[in-house]
Amino acid sequence: MNYLPLFIDTSGKKCLIIGGGKVASRKLIPILKSKMNVKMISPEIIDDIEHIIKDNKNFIHEKRKFEENDIKDQFLIVAATNDKNTNALIAKIAKGKNILINMAEDSINGNVLIPSVVDRDPIKIAISSGAASPILTRLVKTKLETVIPFSFSKLAEVMMEYRSKVKDHFSSIKERRNFWEAFLDGPLSEMVLSGHIDKAKKALDKSIKEEKIPDKNGEVYLVGAGPGDPELLSFKALRLMQKADVVIYDRLVSEPIMNLIRQDAEKIYVGKQRADHAMPQENINELLARLALEGKKVLRLKGGDPFIFGRGGEEIESLINDDIPFQIVPGITAASGCASYAGIPLTHRDHSQACIFVTGHLRDGTVNLNWKMLAHEKQTLVFYMGMHGSKVICEELIKHGLKEKTPAALIVKGTTADQEVIIGDLLSMPKIIKENKIIPPTLLIIGDVVKLHNKLKWFDPFSFKDKNNIHF
Ligand code: SAH
Repeated sequence: MNYLPLFIDTSGKKCLIIGGGKVASRKLIPILKSKMNVKMISPEIIDDIEHIIKDNKNFIHEKRKFEENDIKDQFLIVAATNDKNTNALIAKIAKGKNILINMAEDSINGNVLIPSVVDRDPIKIAISSGAASPILTRLVKTKLETVIPFSFSKLAEVMMEYRSKVKDHFSSIKERRNFWEAFLDGPLSEMVLSGHIDKAKKALDKSIKEEKIPDKNGEVYLVGAGPGDPELLSFKALRLMQKADVVIYDRLVSEPIMNLIRQDAEKIYVGKQRADHAMPQENINELLARLALEGKKVLRLKGGDPFIFGRGGEEIESLINDDIPFQIVPGITAASGCASYAGIPLTHRDHSQACIFVTGHLRDGTVNLNWKMLAHEKQTLVFYMGMHGSKVICEELIKHGLKEKTPAALIVKGTTADQEVIIGDLLSMPKIIKENKIIPPTLLIIGDVVKLHNKLKWFDPFSFKDKNNIHF
């Protein structure tokens, strides 16, 4: 492929697109973005194009067939008619006049490719397979889109704004490189990426004034890892997992997720089993603050969502007292993940108008909850940490008015390859739990929506491997 990738300033330059169908519409979007003056010649244009050009002043449409003398002084021509011979003729004339020509469907006759673009303006990544495989191009684009945060645009804008100021105060290239590396590696870049641009700029101004490189102070990322399936992580969670120097995690974070952490990051287990608190909460709070004050990028990785039965609030509070920068990244909570993977919608127009997340954690053998509020039909109850208290939970709900036959589901290790869904009702569930050896984590869903499991179940981990476990 004898192509030189170039970025050319095209604003105000003339572009002629011949054709008004799907192919033309695909080319039109990036061309209009590049601020060219576009003329489209075509007897008809499809609705998509009407939509794209709405209110665009850089576009005109001439509703007619193309004529040879339409090609004269343009910068770029796109041949996108549905007739191969016409396209070839357009290419021939354009080349004769030294005009760049993109052949929408047949790159061989053209001399310009319009690449696929990952756009984080002012950063642009252009991808082309030289028309070998548009599918491959799309695959590469998708991969890049997922690893480059959308807010990279902001980062580039801030760096552009400060480029000359930094140059004025730091004379050598080495100093400037150190300055920007410290900026990108430290909390200031995360400030920009998470939208605290003014705060980051103030810190940059201060550094420049004092002619010091930006502080590489530590920071904390409180990140939700979701219920188990690593593919349920958010882009942001994955990015911070790759950035952290030290990771503090507990029992609920699945192994495949742990494998995605930057390899040389230090990993500290502060697991929480029911009876065996590996580390008291206060010590975890202190540990986060201490590591961050040592200048480390600390990732506090939690199962599900940090703000749903995750003590995320407590851990953050202690950071505020020490003025340590932090970010919170939500995760898919067990209720969402387990319900989806078990085919149990948490709400449904016919069965449930509300959904309540409840802790079933027992203190002194009792569950101190507002049973009257919970024992209502047409709502779904999701009990976290409810397996050990299931007897009390089911009995109290029956006592407060729910039918014994109210459906209940226990989802074991939801969203993982070991997921099991146990179906019963308020009467039978405690007995099923007692009689089977069930290994946590488990989530208890109660309500009529559970009936839909039979019809909507789709995730079948047993089909992945040969298992001799009990099927319920
Ligand atoms: N912050 C977490 C919940 C922590 S409390 C979240 O948002 O999901 C811990 C409880 O979550 C467990 O006792 C269990 O009830 C539930 N849980 C977490 N992951 C689970 C999973 N993969 N399958 C079933 N239950 C899960």
